[in-house]
Amino acid sequence: DDEIFMDEDSIREYDKRYNLHSWSAQKNLNPLVITKAEGIYFWDINGKRYFDMSSQLVNVNVGHGNKEIINAIKEQAERLPFIGPSYAVDVRSKLAAKVIEKAPDNMGKVFFTLGGADANENAIKIARMFTGRQKIFSRYRSYHGASFGAANLSGEPRRYTCEPGLTGFIKFFDPYIYREKIEFKSEEDASRYYLDKLKEQIIYEGADNVAAIFLETVTGSNGVIIPPKGYLQGIRDICDEFGILMVCDEVMTGWGRTGEWFACDNWNVKPDIITFAKGITCGYVPLGGVIVDKKIAEYFDDNVLMCGLTYNAHPIGCAAGCATIDVYEKEGLIENSKKMGKVLGAGLEKLKEKHACVGDVRYIGLFSAVELVKHKGTKEPLVPYGKDPEKIMPRIIDSLRERGFSTYSHENCILVAPPLIIKEEELKEALSILDEVLDFVDEYIEK
Ligand code: PLP
Repeated sequence: DDEIFMDEDSIREYDKRYNLHSWSAQKNLNPLVITKAEGIYFWDINGKRYFDMSSQLVNVNVGHGNKEIINAIKEQAERLPFIGPSYAVDVRSKLAAKVIEKAPDNMGKVFFTLGGADANENAIKIARMFTGRQKIFSRYRSYHGASFGAANLSGEPRRYTCEPGLTGFIKFFDPYIYREKIEFKSEEDASRYYLDKLKEQIIYEGADNVAAIFLETVTGSNGVIIPPKGYLQGIRDICDEFGILMVCDEVMTGWGRTGEWFACDNWNVKPDIITFAKGITCGYVPLGGVIVDKKIAEYFDDNVLMCGLTYNAHPIGCAAGCATIDVYEKEGLIENSKKMGKVLGAGLEKLKEKHACVGDVRYIGLFSAVELVKHKGTKEPLVPYGKDPEKIMPRIIDSLRERGFSTYSHENCILVAPPLIIKEEELKEALSILDEVLDFVDEYIEK
């Protein structure tokens, strides 16, 4: 019977017959059959090799096939694969200590989850318990997860299926300067504008009702929008003024992606809560978590933490997390992210200069987006927001994949976020594939 699952057609046939794939109408899906992954590459069943230029879902930061993590998982599976959340276990204690050591120095304790959405779900609850307030602010161009609370937190179209949604979730605008109608004199000016608007909105909502402001420290899927100078500190100040908790969603940006352990370290801003997932175990097994600062940790000394998961702080996840942090350290991956980020940035700037279809490029560490437009002057997006009837973006992504460059797009942006182990030559080779495909996009818009 297992023979059936050896050849490409039957693997795909069974997949199509029995498997539901996320965010897709199922009928016309034609998934690649993958059999192997190593380092920055993966291979399909026919032996074709792909640069993993999105690190899958921006989570495989250390690359594929890392033996240290695999061995840690194997050893833990042999020793103690599972024990309930109420017990203390060596890897559970060790990982919690390591996470707090890497987080900003105001942080106190961590609550482990299985991924990003449930990290945010629990962060919402913790913020409400701690403040005794209900309302939650988050931004339009954001993705915080697909479960009900996290989807209500999200601003982009993936939230629409959960609407009319929960009351008390309020959206504000992102500092998306490239698409702003106003010409700002400086980044600081832009920050002031967005922060003043946010403050006004908070006052109208009744500042005393607001528990938390959630933000992706650097907006991820929705176009790698990097906060302008002074923005994050401004959010911190607003939170301090009104007794609101600042929650940074570092699910995508944490664990070295932006060239620091956490993206907030780039601006030396200390949130009250950080949520994380992805890069903590790089997908070798699922793990996420909520880091709370010391005052919140202390609050739960005497108040019950009304949060729970059967798989809270799963021992195999914790073992993998410990090994993953060791890999970041031993291989100097945070530094490499910063160093290769400069190469990536320079390469993207060249693409912007050369290609009529590239309106903007945004990058920090090994986290970047290429924003495609029909016209540089008008900035008209290559596809309108929330719509792509001609499937232009999927066609671009397919052309890249045919040439061995795997990534994904969101709206009119192509994401480029390779594993943090990538070397300069590899990065340049991959960017040359992107360059070639952008030539076709130029031809398309000039027609
Ligand atoms: N938050 C951010 C910023 C994300 O990018 C994601 C996933 O892409 C999530 C939360 C949700 O994480 P998960 O898919 O692990 O639930």
